[in-house]
Amino acid sequence: MSRLAVYPGSFDPPTKGHLDIIQRAARIFDHVIVAVSNNPNKKATFSVAERIQMVEASIRDLPNADVDTFSGLLVDYLRSKKAHILIRGLRVISDVDYEFQLASINRRLFREAETVFLMPDEQYTYLASSVVKEVCQRGAPVDNFVSPAVARVLRRKFSRK
Ligand code: ADP
Repeated sequence: MSRLAVYPGSFDPPTKGHLDIIQRAARIFDHVIVAVSNNPNKKATFSVAERIQMVEASIRDLPNADVDTFSGLLVDYLRSKKAHILIRGLRVISDVDYEFQLASINRRLFREAETVFLMPDEQYTYLASSVVKEVCQRGAPVDNFVSPAVARVLRRKFSRK
């Protein structure tokens, strides 16, 4: 049986930390779907289409990963894909509270699903999409934090006119 894993998130924008997690998941599982959340309660800087495009450009060299979007309950999306593995990234201890809460709720809603936590390389533990946006907005280079394609989109978004 082929093992399909879903890595859900906002990816607003996808960073090298996200990419590190996707690469690790792609080494462990047969196929990884990066699922960009379309959540009207969470105001995103980039549209779903922009976020999908940025993820796509970042994972082009990974043959067993692709990108999709979902709205509504994550567990419903998992069921629709017949997936039972959920990937989340843990950077620092302060991530744990929220991630455990989320994993527990998802377990309640879908007993057969398992959340697998992966740790990024140490150099990415400080990286968050919000910080990357702040840095770019203030005019500093973001090439160390995101893939070249994402850096271009960020610069375009935040370029002063
Ligand atoms: P969400 O809004 O669902 O938390 P994010 O895009 O912020 O979406 O994060 C998606 C997942 O990726 C979360 O599990 C988060 O902890 C993880 N993540 C975010 N940034 C990093 C990073 N730099 N290294 C590893 N994991 C990360």
